[in-house]
Amino acid sequence: MVTKRNNIKNFTRQNLREWFKKNEKPQISTKPFRADQIFKWLYQKRVESFDKMLNIGQGTREILENHFYVCSLKVSNKFKSRDGSIKFQILLDDSNIIETVFLPHKNHNTICVSSQVGCAMGCDFCMTAKMGLIRNLNPSEIINQIFAVRKELPNAKNIRNIVFMGMGEPFHNYKNLMQALEILTDEHGFNFSHRRITVSTSGLLPKIKIFGFEKIKANLAVSLNGVTNAVRTKLMPVNKSYNLEKLIKACSEFPLESRKRITFEYVLIRGLTDSIEDAKNLIKLLHGLKFKINLIPYNSTPSSKYDSPSPEQARMFQKYLLDHKIIAPLRISKGQDIQGACGQLAVENMRRIEYLI
Ligand code: SF4
Repeated sequence: MVTKRNNIKNFTRQNLREWFKKNEKPQISTKPFRADQIFKWLYQKRVESFDKMLNIGQGTREILENHFYVCSLKVSNKFKSRDGSIKFQILLDDSNIIETVFLPHKNHNTICVSSQVGCAMGCDFCMTAKMGLIRNLNPSEIINQIFAVRKELPNAKNIRNIVFMGMGEPFHNYKNLMQALEILTDEHGFNFSHRRITVSTSGLLPKIKIFGFEKIKANLAVSLNGVTNAVRTKLMPVNKSYNLEKLIKACSEFPLESRKRITFEYVLIRGLTDSIEDAKNLIKLLHGLKFKINLIPYNSTPSSKYDSPSPEQARMFQKYLLDHKIIAPLRISKGQDIQGACGQLAVENMRRIEYLI
């Protein structure tokens, strides 16, 4: 009888221990440290087959081989920006394509990962929204994006931050997100600090409410983008279900570790969200919260419906916030020449538009 093999990277260490316990056989050592060892081989030594796991006995390796497989993902295309950021197209087993972005900084690097193929949230300024939701990524597809980038960039040593700001709404794929976070932060797994992982949501309130009480305390970012319900609903349909008042209340109740803040992302769109009046209202709206604001000038393309703000207006907006002692970095230009905004590459590729690299 042929056994259906499981993708081992969809298992947390706890899941794997439980599997060993349930499938106890004389030739398998079911001691908990077996799962610890396997995790180290997979995530720290990054081996891609069980026969390379040298301190695991032959009998156990055979059992692993019969019941599991180790999968990896392949980069199908990459687009390098003049500013050093690289957008990778990654091919999934079912031929869907997701995108992962590598963002270099002076002393460290950040990887921006996707959590879904497409997205159901329908944000009006986002190219991924045009795909609709195709499917959720499983935990292995989430974490394998990091392996794929590392393989492509063996010299990019210091990958310090992981941000869930690629394709998809991570809280719409909550269970798989939490499993991926468990593997990423596991001391026998990737061993990333939870303080260096940020999950960005469009504002799915029920999940914001539970996320703060999970045992893994990753950072929360909220995509805000409008300071009135009318503007936010126009840009983000999720605001119809969870309006600004409810969203801000949930953020005020979100438990923060010391010296941590919620990050609000705010897209500056010419004539819609970039006035000084908007900046004033933004301060009023967030009053009382511990926060910072990432200002993201909208990256307009020939087919987009909105316009980028002028650089002067973006700077004036930022200055107004800085003058009011608000932390408000202006995220200008990372990857603009490679369609750096969320989801743009995948959709444009679906339309078979060719890019200059
Ligand atoms: S901005 Fe994010 S949440 Fe909104 S549609 Fe795009 S991927 Fe989804």
